Amino acid sequence: APAREVLTWERFGEVTRELARDIWDSGYRPDIIVSVARGGLLPAGAIAYALDLKSMLVLNVEFYTGIGVTLKDPRLVEPSGDVRGMAGKKVLIVDDVADSGRTLRFVKELCEEYATEIRVAVLYEKSRSVLKPDYAYLHTDSWIAFPWSDKDPVNGGQAEA
Ligand code: 5GP
Repeated sequence: APAREVLTWERFGEVTRELARDIWDSGYRPDIIVSVARGGLLPAGAIAYALDLKSMLVLNVEFYTGIGVTLKDPRLVEPSGDVRGMAGKKVLIVDDVADSGRTLRFVKELCEEYATEIRVAVLYEKSRSVLKPDYAYLHTDSWIAFPWSDKDPVNGGQAEA
């Protein structure tokens, strides 16, 4: 089996803190955080607290259906936050990983229709990503096990995906 990169809860706490510090130190002052669900939910929450920012917009994006298996293109799925909520604002897009980068490219293009300024922050960046994040703390080309999704669901995975 290919090597896996494991992120622990403890390391997650450290990394989101360091990312927030990098964002702050760069001088960027976002008005709103756009969280890409579901992978970006926990990173976005942690970074929002660290930046003392309360304005959150959740975009519900679907792309992967399994490990390495994707839909043809990323797409917004309902219910999703109202993209008009970022009109005229400085946006920080937060996700877990830029892998192919196609999800983040899709989200960034969507935000460009409304936001005045956009930057992207991720925990992990992979070298093949078509989108270069403005802030990335960790780098790998392995499949990453995140602490929120590395265990089977408690229903034994019975719900429809
Ligand atoms: P991308 O569009 O950059 O290929 O990836 C989109 C989403 O797929 C990521 O936000 C993440 O939720 C999921 N994903 C991509 N690569 C990995 C990975 O290595 N591990 C896990 N657990 N999820 C991934």
